[in-house]
Amino acid sequence: MDYSKLVDVYEQLNKTTKRLEKTHIISEFLKDVSIDDTEHVMLLLEGRVFPSYDSREIGVASRLMLKSLSTATGISVDKIENEWKKQGDLGLVAEIIVKTKKQETLHSAKLTIKKVVDNIRKLAELEGEGTVERKTQLIAELLTSAKPIESKYIVKTILGEMRIGVGEGVMRDAIVWAFFDKKIGIKYTQEMNDIEVEDREIYNKYLDEVQRAYDVSNEFAEVAKTARLKGIEGLKNMEMNVGIPIKVMLALKADTIEEAFETVGKPAAVEFKYDGFRIQGHKDEKGNIRLFTRRLEDVTKQFPDVAESVRRNVKGKIFIIDSEAVGYNRKTGRYMPFQNISQRIKRKYDIDKMSVDFPVELNVFDIIYYEGKSIINESFDKRRKLLEKIVRQEPKKIVLSRIKIVSEKKDVEKFFKDAVNAGNEGLMFKSLDSPYKPGARVGYMIKFKHIMETLDLAIVGAEWGEGKRSKWLSSYTIACVDDNGNFVEVGRVSTGLKEKKEEGLSFEEMTKLLKPLIINDKGKEVKVKPRVVIEVGYEEIQKSPTYESGFALRFPRVIGLRVEKGPNDASTLDYITKLYESQKKS
Ligand code: AMP
Repeated sequence: MDYSKLVDVYEQLNKTTKRLEKTHIISEFLKDVSIDDTEHVMLLLEGRVFPSYDSREIGVASRLMLKSLSTATGISVDKIENEWKKQGDLGLVAEIIVKTKKQETLHSAKLTIKKVVDNIRKLAELEGEGTVERKTQLIAELLTSAKPIESKYIVKTILGEMRIGVGEGVMRDAIVWAFFDKKIGIKYTQEMNDIEVEDREIYNKYLDEVQRAYDVSNEFAEVAKTARLKGIEGLKNMEMNVGIPIKVMLALKADTIEEAFETVGKPAAVEFKYDGFRIQGHKDEKGNIRLFTRRLEDVTKQFPDVAESVRRNVKGKIFIIDSEAVGYNRKTGRYMPFQNISQRIKRKYDIDKMSVDFPVELNVFDIIYYEGKSIINESFDKRRKLLEKIVRQEPKKIVLSRIKIVSEKKDVEKFFKDAVNAGNEGLMFKSLDSPYKPGARVGYMIKFKHIMETLDLAIVGAEWGEGKRSKWLSSYTIACVDDNGNFVEVGRVSTGLKEKKEEGLSFEEMTKLLKPLIINDKGKEVKVKPRVVIEVGYEEIQKSPTYESGFALRFPRVIGLRVEKGPNDASTLDYITKLYESQKKS
């Protein structure tokens, strides 16, 4: 097919911002594209020549493009650069200068879609000496046969600057409209910018099926070809391919433990929520390991250490596992926040040094494919049991995510504390009988990052009240314990106590407890021996220069006495610091 046909489509797409109209334009076009051209067309519509998970890069920057334009047109680099300054867009510059040139030479060969893709793909393969020259030649070859408007899109595609507003949703819908319109009876009317379908339910089913096929294959080309050749049944049978990343399952969020349980049911699994980055690990039948990020970028080269752990410690010939890689400090062994290791993801050189300086531990939490079979429809419970059988844990290299099966709020709270204390972000709730849904943000996995975790704090001071409260100590200075066992203040609290005994913990009762502990009297202010520990709720932990701990509580309130706790059991400064950190991440 001629490239000019696709360029027509680009132009039409650029003229509208309406999603349905874009879908219509693409679907009509797809009906005319041959099977052989489908792959190229689908990629080019998304502005690329390789699938998103392919790590090959075209590697052409603006400088090289200027040179290629100059070679193709005979116009000097300086002149082109001037034009670029005026236009601000090299695609437009290409269109303008190729137009001038064409009038002079009248040369015109037809450019096919295949030729465009072939040449651009070759750019990614060149390496070593003479690369710049050869790249220039390949681009110039396309530009000399391109019409002005075609050169605009060629340049934009090579530079990765295509912006035609075609997202995944439009691509998915266009496939349904193109290949199933007769079955579903879809009618688009431009004037109304609306569609009519005979049966919405059936239409939605087709959309879901196409989406599912895309989620497991990550290639619209594959989905479009299958839809066209094998229909809906073909789509249903599309499965993931080891070596090609599949979309990861995403998590919903809950603000309270009750809310999380409501969604995932009881009992549920809770796991540490690690602050690292997602790694989908594949092992194919040849024993090759490939690693992909959540955005499906291939990072195998950047993480040879992780690949090696997967190879050595996961039993099985062919599999796909899901995990979180977490950085740790080699000296202290403690987890490090994601930012510290994020630089490894894009790194191209000194890879081995990076893996020594910024080691990561792989925390495996799911398995999607095993020994030739997709197991996404097995329950989480079963998938986890399988993982436990096949992963040989080696701390600081590869381990299973820490998990606990719980039904009680208090068990969750305890585990949350463990998670935060170990430097994690919080917890992940997982429903035990759920499947793995690629690409979906469903309630099978719930992130729970901040408990309004109460603190146990020692009362170290108090203040006599005013008016009718003047006989009571009614406001309390509260403190946590620092590393050296000292009490350091985190604020004052007066809310939560009652004026009448019958209503709960009263000012009177508290005054009775504190009075014998007074060690220092300064007007209305008293200092007390740290003996009484209270449970304190709050909205947020804030940094504050006012108190010696460096933190203050926003809207603190007394929840109750912690009679069973001595002052040394009060929350530690370290714990409060961690809660503050985890709060920042959520
Ligand atoms: P968020 O990025 O805040 O939406 O949280 C979801 C992310 O948490 C996932 O994509 C994983 O990268 C990460 N994560 C950390 N620990 C776990 C775990 N135990 N199970 C699932 N995902 C986890």
